[in-house]
Amino acid sequence: MTETSTSSGGRPSLPMEGVPQPRREDVLNLPRVHFSTHPVMAHKMTALRDKNTQSPEFYRLVKEIGALLAYEATANLALEPCPIETPMGPMIGERLAGGIGVTPILRAGLGLAEGFRQVIPDVQIWHLGLRRDEQTLQAMEYYNQLPHKVDLQVCYAVDPMLATGGSAIDAINVLKRRGILRLCYVGIIAAPYGLLKLSQTHPDIDIYIAALDESLNNVGYILPGLGDAGDRQFGTF
Ligand code: URA
Repeated sequence: MTETSTSSGGRPSLPMEGVPQPRREDVLNLPRVHFSTHPVMAHKMTALRDKNTQSPEFYRLVKEIGALLAYEATANLALEPCPIETPMGPMIGERLAGGIGVTPILRAGLGLAEGFRQVIPDVQIWHLGLRRDEQTLQAMEYYNQLPHKVDLQVCYAVDPMLATGGSAIDAINVLKRRGILRLCYVGIIAAPYGLLKLSQTHPDIDIYIAALDESLNNVGYILPGLGDAGDRQFGTF
């Protein structure tokens, strides 16, 4: 992680410098925002944040946290009756009604998507590439592998770090244009600034977060955070 980035003219670019940010207390009770309270999640989060945690373990933890978040975020999915025969006789079971999509925002969202797959192996994975412009912090779409036929009951956009909110807002915009009726955002750490922006821009989605942090630094990294979630998962420092 770099503390400053440099614009093409050689001047330091500090896009969050002087930008007012809400406090944690301001965003604790936003509608449709869910914070994990599970002690196992808190335990794994500490290991994830630790700067001494190396990439292989970091990636494994992202997947495990993704599975825990998937479990929480799918708690109210719709079911439909499913007649089956047990070895003892017939019964009416239940199964998930309609397809479930997961959209990892590349590349940091990949580990979270794997966590979802461990909980629901037949989710559809819709890759979406959004890159942050380091100067403006605006999200730019560079890869889109969304299918043409959409028959999902819900789609989860997943990205570990909800920092300024730009990528998350853009990803939900892209999915809304596909006509998906129910959308959720799932992230590991949120900054109050990005969380408020996402919640205000898309008040019709549910947002699931493992931990709410303090603030963004001048270049848009979350404090105390965990550094760069993509680099730490894939060992690209
Ligand atoms: N993206 C990251 O990987 N980390 C942050 O702190 C913010 C955005």
